[in-house]
Amino acid sequence: MRRRSVAQGGRRSRRAATRVRRPRPRPARARRAPGGPTPPRLAFACLGSSGAVPSAERDTTSLVVRAGGTVCLMDVGGSPVQKLRRLAVDPVDLAAVVVTHTHPDHVYGLPALVQNLIILGRRTPLPVYCRVEHVDLLKSLLALFELTKELDVSIQAVEPREGVRVLETPDLAITASPNVHGRMPNLAVRAEAGGRSVVYSSDTRPCAAVAALARGATVLVHEATFARPDPTQWHSTAREAGEIARQAGVGRLLLAHVGYESHGALAAHVADARAAFTGPVGVVDELRWYRA
Ligand SMILES: [Zn+2]
Repeated sequence: MRRRSVAQGGRRSRRAATRVRRPRPRPARARRAPGGPTPPRLAFACLGSSGAVPSAERDTTSLVVRAGGTVCLMDVGGSPVQKLRRLAVDPVDLAAVVVTHTHPDHVYGLPALVQNLIILGRRTPLPVYCRVEHVDLLKSLLALFELTKELDVSIQAVEPREGVRVLETPDLAITASPNVHGRMPNLAVRAEAGGRSVVYSSDTRPCAAVAALARGATVLVHEATFARPDPTQWHSTAREAGEIARQAGVGRLLLAHVGYESHGALAAHVADARAAFTGPVGVVDELRWYRA
């Protein structure tokens, strides 16, 4: 099934012409249902929700975002095609991929995705957006597996400035801001459609840039790697995720990138976040569509 409608909405679409920054391959579009355009209802699902090490229950963190006919993947963990299919997304229809940073848990599935798309017959170029510092690394990763000839994977540089526009289609706008992940350049990402929005912090210490990017967002998916602060690591606790949600005034907080050590104590993780944020909080369920 290509076009299962999952999001609420019916809100007015951004009807700007399709516009993708630098250069400008047209994004692949999911097929329209008969009877006319689908309104840009925003929905998202996590393909994984663990920190760098998966557990039996949770895989490494990535998201798929859908609005109208546009489907974008944010980060690429293990077996992305199988997980997209479990979410009733045809992987061939992906409009774009955003790689927030190049720690393996966020990017190691990219060669497998590209190989699968080649085998599945995709001919439309696949734009992959990443920090400008990571363009060469992603090109090298694909070249390592000799995946640069049969499908045009156009690696697009995103400049590291707050609120930078990553891409815009008639259905969906994506912006990004640099976050704080030690020496690793990284991006937090905001997807908007029809007046709704979801923000993905990616891996970061709690920081003002993510709070600003998430200002007034419908949903914030924030990393919560640790139960207790670890000053040697560039991650957040659940409590700190709650503090960012409060500062940003988001409608709902979903915790992701939860360290495997906490997978058996998720209620405590949620309670820690609730100590700082009074809105709805939960640990994100994997392979479940959420309405933004
Ligand atoms: Zn990570």
